[in-house]
Amino acid sequence: MKAVVYKSTGSWYHVKAEDGRIYNSRIKGKFRLKGIKSTNPVAVGDHVEIDTETKGDETIGVINKILDRKNYIIRKSVNLSKQTHIIAANIDLAFLLITHNNPPTSTTFIDRFLVTAEAYHIPTVILINKVDAYSLEEFGEMKYLAELYREIGYTCIGISAETGENIDKVKELMKDKVSVFAGHSGVGKSTLVNAIEPELNIKTSEISEQHRQGQHTTTFAEMHELHFGGQIIDTPGIRGFGVVDIDKYTLDNYFPEFFKLKPNCKFNNCIHVDEPKCAVKQALADDKIAYSRYKSYLQIMEGEEDESFRKDPYQDLR
Ligand code: GDP
Ligand code: ZN
Repeated sequence: MKAVVYKSTGSWYHVKAEDGRIYNSRIKGKFRLKGIKSTNPVAVGDHVEIDTETKGDETIGVINKILDRKNYIIRKSVNLSKQTHIIAANIDLAFLLITHNNPPTSTTFIDRFLVTAEAYHIPTVILINKVDAYSLEEFGEMKYLAELYREIGYTCIGISAETGENIDKVKELMKDKVSVFAGHSGVGKSTLVNAIEPELNIKTSEISEQHRQGQHTTTFAEMHELHFGGQIIDTPGIRGFGVVDIDKYTLDNYFPEFFKLKPNCKFNNCIHVDEPKCAVKQALADDKIAYSRYKSYLQIMEGEEDESFRKDPYQDLR
């Protein structure tokens, strides 16, 4: 019987099967996954095949197959081994929450996130949260950002998780899909989840960060049902969106507006840095490409660490 993994707690998995029931399941045998050295063979969001076994009055599931993943997000293991931990699989949509201040979200952070999401084939929608709290000037700056990213092709919505502004639009996008919320700690991920699905009652960061202090947090991702259709994967404590190594010749694949121009570059292996007759640099000079995007492109190419990725240990994905 087919099933979807909703929760993992080490060696046991909660899966929801085709029959609508939740089975506490374990894995049978060893799974070898192509090209991934992972500490966890089965991740939240995985589509699996299970058999059932009844012992006494309990029926448990036995996972015997993992179906191909359409995408997944990973985290490097804390130890120095090359192992990775799969946070979640089969994500239909990521929402990147950004705010003007409290906390500020830099364009570098946004672009790094978008590049990673492109590389993972996860469509991303940008949510500008806390619009209720902006001055006219701040609002103007966020509007500029929204236009910049819309021009590239990303959906951008100004919302307020607190007042409920445009939350209906977010729900509409989430309907019948598996979503994740990402962004710096404090941007309002928990508040938004609670506005969308009050029954989940997710702790907002003030509470959960106090809670984190002085204790080891092994946090597991968990998928929740949405009452209007669809699921959300809640994964507290994750820094960013995983790591991908992208070589400089393919980086432009993940900047959609650069990629579109690439055929017009004189050299077909142009990386848009020092080459003559480069369509990307021409577009930059003509103000058709945002300087912030080009700057992010160079930074990612040079492998510079994003300060905001390092400094914020609580930056997480909800
Ligand atoms: P998380 O760390 O991303 O989960 O952020 P939280 O949901 O914990 O929110 C951090 C703080 O921002 C809390 O004090 C929230 O009340 C506040 N907050 C969240 N959304 C909004 C919003 O739309 N407007 C305003 N003014 N504050 C918000
Ligand atoms: Zn070029």
